[in-house]
Parts: sequence; structure tokens; C-alpha cells
Amino acid sequence: MKILYSAPRGTKDILPDETKIWRKIKKKAIEVSERFGFSEMIFPTFEEEKLFIRSVGEETDVVQKEMFTFLDSAGRKLALRPEGTASLARAVIENGLLNEALPLKLFYIINCFRNERPQKGRYKEFYQLGVELFGSSLPTSELEVISLAKMFFEELNIKNLTLNINSIGCSNCRKDFVLKLIDYFKEHENKLCKTCKERLNKNPLRILDCKEEECEALKENAPKILDNVCSSCKEHFKTVEKLLKNNNIDYVVNHKIVRGLDYYTRTVFEFKTNELGSQDTICGGGRYDGLFEELGAKKTPALGFGVGLNRLFLLLKDKEKIENYCDLYIGHISENAMLKATKIAQNLREKNIKVQTNLLERSVKAQMKYANKINAKYSIIIGDNELNSNEIELKNMNEEQTKKINLDDFESEFLKFINSN
Ligand SMILES: [Zn+2]
Ligand SMILES: [Zn+2]
Repeated sequence: MKILYSAPRGTKDILPDETKIWRKIKKKAIEVSERFGFSEMIFPTFEEEKLFIRSVGEETDVVQKEMFTFLDSAGRKLALRPEGTASLARAVIENGLLNEALPLKLFYIINCFRNERPQKGRYKEFYQLGVELFGSSLPTSELEVISLAKMFFEELNIKNLTLNINSIGCSNCRKDFVLKLIDYFKEHENKLCKTCKERLNKNPLRILDCKEEECEALKENAPKILDNVCSSCKEHFKTVEKLLKNNNIDYVVNHKIVRGLDYYTRTVFEFKTNELGSQDTICGGGRYDGLFEELGAKKTPALGFGVGLNRLFLLLKDKEKIENYCDLYIGHISENAMLKATKIAQNLREKNIKVQTNLLERSVKAQMKYANKINAKYSIIIGDNELNSNEIELKNMNEEQTKKINLDDFESEFLKFINSN
């Protein structure tokens, strides 16, 4: 068949077998977040463009090149969300949630949009888990969000996880460090990649997380931010380390982990895994004590992390067994049998049993083939013989075993049977 319409470049359909794995990821995210006392927030897919310009940053690639923006009919400039933190902070301020008991602990599972060049596991519409904690400036909240992330990955059986942490200082101590950094990279300016030459004036911190080979080499001898932070930032970082050790959470200090925006402060962290081949970041997070002020609200310490769910999905795709989604398939081969079959199906569904029945004109053989295909656990076929003898054969589809059951008592017998198996 000729395909007339295809999905826009950089988007992906998530197919029925895949949504089962997606749902498992989402379920685990909700379960672990709630265990730590985080509640879910749902907010709009689009916001005023200026919110993202203000919070994500005018100089960032996201704002300059990657946002999907549009005008509504009244001429308002809107944008599809490129990330979740800005929208969440906006919603928290607007709904007065900071006036309630602090800390405020929230999570969200959302789609985001960035007009980036598509790569493996990277899409223009992608999915993200975000976990954010507002109102605490203490290192115990770092422990809280980091251990939540770790538990989430571990319970999904993600192996070879490495936690990388760093401190990027505060508004008092970072300015001096950035000047040192500029001095250092100015000396080697001709060796920087094209993007980093631009970053040198706009956002020098970001040079530290450039992945280009030529910049990697230069970074080795660059001044380290941890050696340059103020004493209270140093103290904060030491306590974070102490808490991690005390909770048996392994980590490495990685001087190259930074965030490029001014409102980020102190702790930054990433979880990496080599399960997809090279070292891949599957979670990035940190503290952003300056964001609420930036958005015109009262200063509120905040921190959190984001997990790209598309990558996580790739990690789990080949490991997960697709779950069984049919407990009983009921085939039928005459009009009277059809009446009986649909009735049984309805009654058992009301008892929370996953039942499917024949909806096509099909032979018994074809119906059994279908039952196999949908991975049904058990099946029965009702025909006039079964109606006359009032006896039915329950077949275990995996073990080829059968069991005779009185047709009148089938529902209650099947319920007893499946509950004892
Ligand atoms: Zn500081
Ligand atoms: Zn570079």
C-alpha cells in the first residue's frame, strides 16, 4: 500500500508493544516519587514564549535555535515547552503553592519539544520525567533527589550507573572563577572548536561540557571550579559528599559537569551509564536557587533533575518481557455460542479479568491461532456440543493442558482457578 502521510521528521510513533514498556517506566517513576513524598503536577504544553526566554536563557541554543514558537490569533507569542522546570516554576508561583507547607515536592511526566537535528534516541518531541524540590537550601535535599533518581534506575534494573557530582558555586564566587576561566581559554582560543569560540564571550562555563575532541584536551588543565568556590559553597559540597557516603551512594567528582545559566547554584549532578555503548548521560540535575527570583518571585531555594525517557526506553526495550495482557480468550462457533461467549466475557471483565472474544468470522483453527498471537493465558471454545453437554474444556495455552469445567458454573470456577494459579 502506498503511504500518503508520514510522521514529521524527528517524531516517533510509540507502538502497542512499546507502550507496555513506557507504562512500566511511568509506573515506576510515580511509585518511587510518591515513596519520597513527591506529588504529580500537570501543566500546559505551551506557554508564553517570554517565560522560556527568561528562564532557559536568551543566549542558549534552546531559545535561539530550537524552540517551536507560534502566534495565536490575538498575536500572542507562544512556545511549545522545550523543558519542564520553567513551566512548573511558573505554575507554582501563579497558584501560590509556595505559601503552603515547605518543602514543596513535585514531579511531572511530560512531552517536550525542541527543533534539534534528530539522532538515535533523540527526537523533536521527547518525553521527560522531572522531579523538583522547592524551599530547602540544605544538602539533605540533594541527598533526597539523588537517592530518588538512583532508586528509580535501580528498580528498573539499569546497570553500570555512575553518579557524577560537582559544585558550580554561587553568585558570589562564580564570577571570579569565570574570569579565570576566560583568561585560561583566551590563551588557547585558536584551539577551541567553533561553538566554544562563541561561548568564550557568551557562556564560558559551557566550554567545560563541550564534547568536541579539541576542547576535551584543553579542559584537562583548565582551572577547576571546586578549587575556586567560596567557603560556604565548599562546606555545602562537603556535606553533600558526607551524606552520599553515609548512604552508600557511590559517586565521582567530575569537574566538567556544569550548567550554563546564572540561576544554577552549587550542586550539579549527572547519572551516566555505558549500557548503550559509550558513556551516556541519562539524568541531569542540580540546584537552581536563583530561578524564582529570576521569574520575579521571592527567592526560593530549589533543586531537581530530569530524566530523558526516550533513552531510558532504549535501555529497557531489549530486556523487558512483554507482559501478558489477556487472561482468557473465548472462541465461539455458532450463534447460540456467540450469545454465551459474549455474556461470559462481560461477566468476567466485571470481575477484573482480561478477556477477549472472537469478533470476526473465523474458523476454530483461526481463532486459536489468534489466541496464541495475542499471548492469551487460557482459552475456551464454545460450540453447540459444549452448549448441549454443558461442559467446557479450559486450555492452558502455554502448557497444552486442559481441564473440564461445567459450563453453567464457568465464571465462578474460572475465577477460583485463576486466583489459585
Ligand atoms: Zn559560593
Ligand atoms: Zn568546544
